[in-house]
Amino acid sequence: MKNINTDVIVVAAGLSGLAACIAAAENGAKVVVFEKSNTTGGAANMGMGPLGIGSSIQKNQMVNLTPGEAFRKHMYFTHYKVDARMVRDYYYKSGDTIDWLMDMGVEFAGVQRAFSADEATRPYSDGEFTWHVVKPEGGGMPGPRSASAMTKKMTERAVELGVEFIYETPVNKIIMEDGMVAGVIAKDKDGQETEARAKAVIIATGGFGENPEMIKELTGYEFGKTIFNFAIPGMRGDGLRMAWEAGAGRTQPSMELMYQLPDNMNHFILDGAFRQPCLWVNRNGQRFMPEDQIGNTTFTGNAITSQPGMIAYSIFDSKLLKKYKKKGPDMVSHVHPHDLYDHFDEQWEKDLEAGYEPIAQADTIEELAEKAGIDVAGLVAQVDEYNEMCEAGYDEIFEKNRNYMQPIEKGPFYCCRQNVGAYGSVGGILINHKTEVMDQDSRVIPSLYAVGTDACNIYGESYPFILSGNTMGFCLNSGRIAGENAAILIEEF
Ligand SMILES: Cc1cc2nc3c(=O)[nH]c(=O)nc-3n(C[C@H](O)[C@H](O)[C@H](O)COP(=O)(O)OP(=O)(O)OC[C@H]3O[C@@H](n4cnc5c(N)ncnc54)[C@H](O)[C@@H]3O)c2cc1C
Repeated sequence: MKNINTDVIVVAAGLSGLAACIAAAENGAKVVVFEKSNTTGGAANMGMGPLGIGSSIQKNQMVNLTPGEAFRKHMYFTHYKVDARMVRDYYYKSGDTIDWLMDMGVEFAGVQRAFSADEATRPYSDGEFTWHVVKPEGGGMPGPRSASAMTKKMTERAVELGVEFIYETPVNKIIMEDGMVAGVIAKDKDGQETEARAKAVIIATGGFGENPEMIKELTGYEFGKTIFNFAIPGMRGDGLRMAWEAGAGRTQPSMELMYQLPDNMNHFILDGAFRQPCLWVNRNGQRFMPEDQIGNTTFTGNAITSQPGMIAYSIFDSKLLKKYKKKGPDMVSHVHPHDLYDHFDEQWEKDLEAGYEPIAQADTIEELAEKAGIDVAGLVAQVDEYNEMCEAGYDEIFEKNRNYMQPIEKGPFYCCRQNVGAYGSVGGILINHKTEVMDQDSRVIPSLYAVGTDACNIYGESYPFILSGNTMGFCLNSGRIAGENAAILIEEF
């Protein structure tokens, strides 16, 4: 058994762990970080950027959303079912956090909203300009994985501050002594154990997205059947388990829902190409939402969850495909390549030939329904009704934006099954607004903090896509808050 003594231990070097270790070290603490994998950044290396409100970038772009307005939107959206003080502290810090990152050398391509769509109910309508998209390393268009440039700069900053990273050494236990946290036990890849003692421990292990048993037990979804979430290696729910074993209170975790194709990163062109306000139906062939709303991936994930078999289908015809190829998509995604349809035929043929199961092509609607597994009579009736409404220029059922009322009439027809997806899990460990872990009776467990997705209990039922970049935003700011508070605690020791 190896022994280590330090001020603060951070369990994991993902996004929230990085923010926590930098903040603690900047405030004078000696910090050791144990990381399960051989690198830093966790799931954040896959993404594009965090939320910030009131950053210098927003001021330069004349975005005038204030933290107070965001707070009220968020609390309205969650029906005040979440910790208002935590939400308030997070949003008020988030603008400064963007500038803090820029001081470390992180560059942002600009600030963006994730989606915009027409809807009468305003608070749920357009996203706000909160998503600070990171400039990719080496330049080029921002896209998936841009944010790895941010985690790299953060790692460099942590190293510069003297933070010690111990890689390939997962923590598997929190040491408790007299009701207080005294340190952790970790084991390296050769089986060598380390007992590390510290005055404060910050848990930041990124949730349980790679643990199908926990997903089923805690959220009811079945991985690979009713949900096709990103399963980033290592996200096994270790932090939740360890915190709960140490006496932490439990909150109801959920999945950070969206929708996607199975194995979507290998079928990314199709994943983007079918995210259009064309015709969306359920397994019975019936429409289930106004398709002009599918840009809000959380709401669409929720809507698909409510359909039979938790699946949906998006369908267009060859006329619509021709239009997309010529004029571009009706709805532009900021995540998928902008020249999607230039590559559509190639990817479609390849995937059809390889028997990629979610897609189908046919010359008639009946045949399409059969191939895709949709109720034939239901789809035929729905297409007839839909085409009539397109002809009339008015969607009597959902009042979809009339610009998107384009008939499905000319074969071949194209169909793609849409599944519930998720970026990962959110929540599970009960914390207060200082990120201190509390027991089920809301008593603080001294010296134990939890941050990032392990403790992200502020979304209620649904991820607030209206304030996008929210998970990274929460990870960074909760991490910073924990690091600062842990450093204060150490001074008081
Ligand atoms: C494809 C994709 C795109 C995304 N895009 C965005 C986006 O643009 N904006 C946004 O806001 N959010 C985005 N997200 C979500 C965001 O990336 C995550 O919410 C965020 O990275 C989570 O941070 P975290 O610190 O909680 O966990 P992570 O960053 O995932 O880090 C967790 C770390 O814990 C380590 N670990 C696990 N168990 C242990 C253990 N026992 N001991 C030690 N270490 C351990 C893991 O190896 C990992 O390094 C995206 C997610 C995905 C998958």
